[in-house]
Amino acid sequence: MTSNKTTYIEQPTLFIVPTPIGNLGDITQRALDVLNSVDIIAAEDTRHTGKLLSHFNIQTRTFALHDHNEQQKAQVLVDKLLAGESIALVSDAGTPLISDPGYHLVSQCRQAGVKVVPLPGACAVITALSASGLPSDRFSFEGFLPAKSKGRKDKFMEIAKVERTCIFYESPHRITESLADMLDVLGPEREVVLARELTKTYETIQGLPLGELIEWIEEDENRKRGEMVLLIHGHREPVNEELPDEATRTLAILVKELPLKKAAAATAEIYNLKKNALYKWGLENLS
Ligand code: SAM
Repeated sequence: MTSNKTTYIEQPTLFIVPTPIGNLGDITQRALDVLNSVDIIAAEDTRHTGKLLSHFNIQTRTFALHDHNEQQKAQVLVDKLLAGESIALVSDAGTPLISDPGYHLVSQCRQAGVKVVPLPGACAVITALSASGLPSDRFSFEGFLPAKSKGRKDKFMEIAKVERTCIFYESPHRITESLADMLDVLGPEREVVLARELTKTYETIQGLPLGELIEWIEEDENRKRGEMVLLIHGHREPVNEELPDEATRTLAILVKELPLKKAAAATAEIYNLKKNALYKWGLENLS
C-alpha cells in the first residue's frame, strides 16, 4: 500500500516526534506538520495522545505501542513502513526513547533499512540541565533511580567519584527516601539540584548542598510534588582547606546558641571562609 498522505513526506519514514513536557506551547511547528502528514501515530497511550491531537486538531489515526507490547508490535509497524506508510512515534511527554518506549522500534527499523528521522524538541533532562547551573560540558543521564533503597545506594556508590554531572528522573512518592539514601552515600555537601514541574505553573529549580536541599524540601510538602529531575554535581577532589583555629573556636562557641548551619554561616562571614567547610568541620568535630 502506498501512502495517500505523501505531500510532506518523500519516502516511508519513521519520525521520532517529541511532545511537550507540560507547556503545550513547546510543540514545534515541524512536529505538528509531521503529526498531520504521517499515516499513523504510534503512541505510548493512545488516550493521552488523543487529547494532545484533538487540542491541535490533528486527525491522524493512532496505534498503541507501549513498554508491554513494543517488542511484538514493532514488527507490525516495520511491515507497515516497508509497505509504504509513514509513522510518527510519540510518547506521553517529551522525547520518545528517553526513559520511554521506542528503542525496539527504532532498532528494528534501522535493521530493516527504514529511514528514521528524529525531530528535536522537549526533553526533561536537557531542559533541567540547561537551567541547573551545574557543569553541562559533560554529563551522564542515568534514567530513573532504582525503586528500592539497596539499588539506589548501589547506584549512588557507582557515581560517587564520577566527575560529570549525573542526572536522574525520580518519582515524587520516593523523593524523601531517595534523598536520604543519597545523603548516606554522597554526604551533605554534594551540590544537588531539584528541577520540578518544568514548563508548568509551579516550575521550581532549587540547587543547594544536599543537606540543605533536604531541609528545604521538608519545609513545604508542595516541594515534594509533581514531576522531577535530580541533578548531582560531579565529584570534586576536596581542596585541603585549613581552617584557622580562631574560626573553629568561634564556631564551637556559636553552635552552643545556634543550629550548626547558622553558626557555620556566621563564622564564615566573620572570617571570610567557606560556610560548607565550616559546616563539614562542625559535623565531624562538634556533633
Ligand atoms: N521522555 C521524557 C523526556 O523526554 O523527558 C521522559 C519520560 S519519563 C516516563 C517521565 C519522567 O520525566 C518524570 O517522572 C520526570 O522524572 C521527568 N519529567 C517529565 N516531565 C517533567 C517536567 N515537566 N518536569 C520535571 N521532570 C519531568
